[in-house]
Amino acid sequence: MFIVSACLVGISCRYDAKSDSDPVFLEWIKKEGFIPVCPEQLGGLPTPRVPASIIDGDGFDVLAKKSKVINQEGNEVTSQFLRGACESLRLAKMMGIKRAVLKEKSPSCGVNLTYCNDQLIKGRGVFTALLINEGIEVTAKY
Ligand code: SF4
Repeated sequence: MFIVSACLVGISCRYDAKSDSDPVFLEWIKKEGFIPVCPEQLGGLPTPRVPASIIDGDGFDVLAKKSKVINQEGNEVTSQFLRGACESLRLAKMMGIKRAVLKEKSPSCGVNLTYCNDQLIKGRGVFTALLINEGIEVTAKY
C-alpha cells in the first residue's frame, strides 16, 4: 500500500486544476493499493491556486522554520503547506503506510527536485521532507 500524490492518479488538484495521470502507472498502483493525497489542498489552498515556491531552501528548511513558502503574488502560504503535509502524514500513519510515490518538481511533493526562489533545484518538497523525517520511504514518479 502506498501514499500517492493525488495528481498522479488523475485527480485534477494541481495549481492549474489539471492532473498528471499516466495509465500504465495507474494500473500498477491499483494493484499495489494506494491512498491519494494532495497536501496543498489538505492544507486549505484552493484549486486552481497561485503557484508557490520555497524561499532560500528546501522542504527540510521549511520544517526547521529556516525558510518560508511564498506564492507568485507574494503571499506567504507556509502554514497551509505545513498543515497539509501534517494532515497527509496523519492519513499515512492511520493506515500504517510506510511507502509513498510522489510527484517530482513540486514544492510539496518533489522528491529529488523542488522549487526554490521560483527555480528548480535539487531538494525535497515540504511533504516529502516530513515523510522522510518520519521514516517513510519516498520515491518519485516523473
Ligand atoms: S504535486 Fe502534490 S501538492 Fe501538487 S497537486 Fe500533486 S498532490 Fe497536490
